[in-house]
Amino acid sequence: MAFVVVGGSLAGVNAAIALREQGYPGELIVIGQEQEPPYERPPLSKGYLLGDAERSSVFVQTSSWYQENAVDLRLGQEAVAVDAAAHTVTLASGEQIGYAKLLLATGSEPRRLPVPGADQPHVRYLRSLADSEALREQLRMGAHVAVIGAGWIGLEVAAAARHHGANVSIVETDALPLRRVLGDEVAGVFRDLHQAHDVTFHFGRSVQSIGADAVILDDGTSVPADVVVVGIGVAPRTALASAAGLAVDNGVLVSSSLRTSDPDIYACGDIASWEHPLIGQRIRVEHWENARQSGQFAARAMLGEAGVYDWLPYFFSDQYDLGMEYSGYAGPGEADRVVFRGDAAAREFIAFWLKENRVLAGMNVNVWDVHDDIRALATAGHSGRSVDPGKLADAQVPLGELLAS
Ligand SMILES: Cc1cc2nc3c(=O)[nH]c(=O)nc-3n(C[C@H](O)[C@H](O)[C@H](O)COP(=O)(O)OP(=O)(O)OC[C@H]3O[C@@H](n4cnc5c(N)ncnc54)[C@H](O)[C@@H]3O)c2cc1C
Repeated sequence: MAFVVVGGSLAGVNAAIALREQGYPGELIVIGQEQEPPYERPPLSKGYLLGDAERSSVFVQTSSWYQENAVDLRLGQEAVAVDAAAHTVTLASGEQIGYAKLLLATGSEPRRLPVPGADQPHVRYLRSLADSEALREQLRMGAHVAVIGAGWIGLEVAAAARHHGANVSIVETDALPLRRVLGDEVAGVFRDLHQAHDVTFHFGRSVQSIGADAVILDDGTSVPADVVVVGIGVAPRTALASAAGLAVDNGVLVSSSLRTSDPDIYACGDIASWEHPLIGQRIRVEHWENARQSGQFAARAMLGEAGVYDWLPYFFSDQYDLGMEYSGYAGPGEADRVVFRGDAAAREFIAFWLKENRVLAGMNVNVWDVHDDIRALATAGHSGRSVDPGKLADAQVPLGELLAS
């Protein structure tokens, strides 16, 4: 019987690639609800939205790859039920597919804004290639763009909108962008960056309603808006797993080998909430590199390889002339101090989140070729090793030497 993957996007296709690379010879079916073959989402709010990247560059594989590797890619097909006892997946068309092992990679969907007027066509979300293409049409010189939510997607859309010459306002309930992820000191860098590009922030405000050409805030402020982009986070698509009787709680609960509560069903990518052996708690990661890594790990686990998924989170963002990478994991409020190396005002620095002098995570901003060192520091930190914060801040001390003694 076949290995079946539900979810034809980054995590699912990486699993398929790894299954073939590992020599799995059997039938391999990937079920994808979207009409497009698997594609990368990061360019949808960056190069592709800016108009810098070709459409063909976003696809994970060439269309011939699937045929050449005997991957039965079923596009435009929704899996509506999983019968774990019978080992079958049912599609919306009524077709039933038997599986020996099943991988769930159903990803995330944008959280909806629950206010009057949010169902109008100029209120947009950004998840798919079609969303990005439709939005790009509307990011024009002089247009008024209201972004709801100053998270990664909202900030990247704001940068793209400014690139196209639109006027941009961002509405955010918190006092700073990205504060929950980065904390006050580093979040201020992103506020300053966008303000330097003439973006208007409305901090501490929420949306009360959306009209034809304005967003009305809870204090009565009217924010002009020809287009409204909602970026208030995503929710894992767990309905299929729940209905199948799998353990679910803010994601599909999997072991450190990405196995669900059913021994023949695995989960990876945005939906997987796994027991991280280094971090010592369950985490769920909504980022690109986790989709790739966990898809590949799940493939090996489905083939019976023993091991634990101990990959430390990594993500990146590009906004205007700022590029950043973040490695490690520091939960909200977990760090007791942030150490800067470099020049934060010039937006050329590394920030480290520390707890009791252990590096939990680090972020390099417009500083390159340090990712491996930051990852090594965060891995050591999560394993209990501390560093000297003075040396961490001192750009003269090579990062590689901090773990030497
Ligand atoms: C605009 C945008 C920009 C991003 N930028 C970055 C970035 O800069 N850096 C970064 O690290 N991360 C970024 N991300 C996040 C990253 O793209 C995601 O973490 C990644 O796509 C997750 O992959 P996934 O395969 O788990 O889920 P998804 O990409 O969500 O794919 C899941 C797929 O499963 C399909 N599906 C769901 N249910 C079913 C079903 N029942 N039957 C069949 N198919 C189904 C969906 O249609 C979808 O195609 C970005 C995301 C977006 C939307």
